[in-house]
Amino acid sequence: MPHRRHVVELPAMSPGGGRRLVIHRFGPAGGRPKVYLQAAIHANELPGTMALHHLMPMLAAADRLGRIRGEIVVAPAVNPIGLSQLVGNNHLGRYDLLGRDNFNRNWLDLSHAVAERVRGRLGADAARNVARIRRAAREALEAMRPASELQALRVEVMKRSVDADIVLDLHCDLEAVLHLFISRRDWPGRAEALAADLGAEATLYNDPYPEALTFSGVHSALWARLAARFPDAAIPQACFSATVEYRGQHQVNHRLGAADARNLYRFLVRQGAIAGRAGPLARPKADATPIEGMDVGYAPRTGFVVYLLPAGARVRTGQPVCEIIDPWDARGPRARLAVRARTDGVLFSRKPDGRLAWPGAVLFRIAGARPLAHRKGLSGLDD
Ligand SMILES: [Zn+2]
Repeated sequence: MPHRRHVVELPAMSPGGGRRLVIHRFGPAGGRPKVYLQAAIHANELPGTMALHHLMPMLAAADRLGRIRGEIVVAPAVNPIGLSQLVGNNHLGRYDLLGRDNFNRNWLDLSHAVAERVRGRLGADAARNVARIRRAAREALEAMRPASELQALRVEVMKRSVDADIVLDLHCDLEAVLHLFISRRDWPGRAEALAADLGAEATLYNDPYPEALTFSGVHSALWARLAARFPDAAIPQACFSATVEYRGQHQVNHRLGAADARNLYRFLVRQGAIAGRAGPLARPKADATPIEGMDVGYAPRTGFVVYLLPAGARVRTGQPVCEIIDPWDARGPRARLAVRARTDGVLFSRKPDGRLAWPGAVLFRIAGARPLAHRKGLSGLDD
């Protein structure tokens, strides 16, 4: 079936308002594996949109040749609410200005609604259970009556994604190397293949799932929560879902976009969604590490920030990563306060928010293998 383009209308929030969302479909309707790709739920994170800009013509060409086996759904800029948030000549795409919600938190946990629908109807046949759970999830979404535009966006997006075998949510950081957030249940397996095919320099996993679920988290947690709820039934981890952080916000160019599209395409071939040969699977550049081993560098005081190491650097415990400088202190080097690594690992993200620091501001993140005492119980700080 040829490439189709769908327009989803969202309810207007003001007289004369009304936004819409465009979603593309490639391959046979109902084909498996079903893959759902979206970018820019944080609307000012466009490197993933750039990758999809280069990927979509490749998918359309493969579709014309009948090479797409699974159904591939693509939402290249999935958040028209966030796209519209121009404030004082700045684009603010991370939080909903109406309700102040982070666009990538509080996605719809369908596990309770699905459990109500499938209770007593699951058995030892995993494939049948998967089909039944997916149907119940779609029904639960159809039964929802969202009141606001943001709720409607969440419901309409999940109607397209909830029954997918593979969900990739494309984000970016401020200054970063390519990294992934995954569920521990998917490593090594498909997550390791994704890390290798995309060239991820760090992969971090949640275990257990955080409360305020991200888009990627909600698709993964659905299966884990139902499996925990119905331990006697055969419930596999039927959806592989990951957050892909495509480096830094300003790294939007054709060279990276084309390379990222080729890497995504190869992963889709490897997963059987597109006919062809993916070639030998490389080793990932890094092993997956726990979220509890992720050191987060916080600013201890006000000042401005200067980094001593580039994103992607390997660091040792105690090594200074950046300095907070008191702009009103005339003593030169004595006006600088070093913020140090508290683990060995990869400095995968720097967060220079305008280079200004305030107490508690996140300055950097390091992927370390060892769970850290000061990080125990914390999770879900992904994307
Ligand atoms: Zn994001």
